[in-house]
Amino acid sequence: MAERKRVRDKAHEHVRVAVIGSGFGGIGAAVRLRREGVTDFVVLERADAVGGTWRDNSYPGCACDVPSHLYSFSFAPNPDWPRTFSGQEHIWDYLERVADTFRLRPHIRLNTEVREARWNGERLLWELRTSQGHLTADVVVSATGPLSDPKTPDIPGLDTFPGKVFHSARWDHDYDLRGKRVAMIGTGASAIQIVPEIQRDVRRLTLFQRTPPWVMPRADRDITGAERWLHRQLPFTTRLRRGLLWGIRELQVQAFTKRPNELGLIESIAKRNMARAIKDPELRAKLTPTYRIGCKRILLSNSYYPALAQPHVDVVASGLAQVRGSTVVAADGTEAEVDAIVFGTGFHVTDMPIADRVVGDEGRTLMETWKDGMKALRGATAAGFPNFLTVIGPNTGLGNSSMILMIESQLNYLADYLRQLDVLGGRAALAPRPSAVGAWNRRVQERMKRTVWNTGGCTSWYLDENGVNTTVWPGTTTEFRTATRSVDLNEYEVLRPPAALPAARDGHKAEVSA
Ligand code: NAP
Repeated sequence: MAERKRVRDKAHEHVRVAVIGSGFGGIGAAVRLRREGVTDFVVLERADAVGGTWRDNSYPGCACDVPSHLYSFSFAPNPDWPRTFSGQEHIWDYLERVADTFRLRPHIRLNTEVREARWNGERLLWELRTSQGHLTADVVVSATGPLSDPKTPDIPGLDTFPGKVFHSARWDHDYDLRGKRVAMIGTGASAIQIVPEIQRDVRRLTLFQRTPPWVMPRADRDITGAERWLHRQLPFTTRLRRGLLWGIRELQVQAFTKRPNELGLIESIAKRNMARAIKDPELRAKLTPTYRIGCKRILLSNSYYPALAQPHVDVVASGLAQVRGSTVVAADGTEAEVDAIVFGTGFHVTDMPIADRVVGDEGRTLMETWKDGMKALRGATAAGFPNFLTVIGPNTGLGNSSMILMIESQLNYLADYLRQLDVLGGRAALAPRPSAVGAWNRRVQERMKRTVWNTGGCTSWYLDENGVNTTVWPGTTTEFRTATRSVDLNEYEVLRPPAALPAARDGHKAEVSA
């Protein structure tokens, strides 16, 4: 790809592409850009290290519930994954190594938080204001991810609590939980990994469960030295292993998207998993979900139920509603005296905070544009936001497989997007046609109707405040890969600057050419 010259002076820096975030999405985008021959780009990262959610989530027991050989980049296979489901430190370390291997460090700006990205419709570029100064970019790739900003519920009286409070994604490792009375709030993927770990140390653990999750056994084990040796010596065996893991999930997803009624069999396996560890019928009743399995993310654990059966662990089948001094009070009135409260209450997914900082062609933020629900074309581009692509955008999430597959598909789309801009030549921008964005989202929502996420009888973070599923992809990863293989220019308007750019300074917007 032709490189546009980087303009650098003291006051002003211009790059071809500015990537926001350095988790799997941002690091993947950076590798892809380099592979496409684009070197004029920066990765803006607000923290002091790369890694995204795998840097931020360091809670005890944090691991990925997607097998490591699938939860890694296809272009950076790792023959040395230590476990079938590797822990956070190994995944973070993997991302650091990818950053080194692909020589991304010169592009990465740590401690650089994007405060605003504003589209300049006259100059056809993005103006970025960061904690380290200003820069402009032809294209912005937002890879901030849906799991970057922790969500803590607004609990009356929480400010009166004299003890320790923290969120699972901001674990306070300096606080010693040993011998403490702890309230754990929430029973999502994070909480069920935390509970078995901390129950060993605490004096009393009170778990506030608003909705019980479905929990399946986790086939976790060490990957043997022999397997690793084989993967190192014969790299195709790593690909084979990945292919098998992927294929199984491609078949599974059909039940989620087309035949939720067939999921009853899986429910019986999950019930047996519970019955093995929970002998008390009253506790079993509390822990048994009343919605179809898969409606919320299916959780994997061999240690969660045994932990709940411990005599010093209490399950309150009700949400935390109030705090009075050191007393935590559930919605059903149950009370407990605690020394610490740990929130495992998830993230701002359908109201991602970066959207409030991105200002499009009509001076409106992405947050305002998405106030009735997130909508993007092929999960990537939003009407009113030219040359702005989101990695893990609306309706690109998965209920049962590896997000890395979806990220790589989105990177294919990004690569073609940049190629198309090159082919157009000169200064140009692509603005998704509102009609194309609308048509794509109608198709997605039509397919969503019969999925387990919409019909399973639960409320989950997949749904926004209007009950619309704006997060999950209602198909296979193969279908998404096909849909994002290339950019269809019919779905975009090509923007050109007014013929004589200086004349455009009086508020002219760029011209549209068909
Ligand atoms: P989450 O799935 O959004 O779960 C939040 C939990 O907090 C839910 O159980 C929710 O209850 C509960 N909650 C909210 N307010 C409450 C209140 N006032 N009282 C009691 N409970 C309350 O968050 P998460 O567990 O952090 O997981 C988020 C996502 O991160 C996952 O779905 C997954 O995609 C990812 N993750 C992945 C892994 C992995 O292994 N790959 C591990 C951890 C996280 P309701 O169910 O009633 O809403």
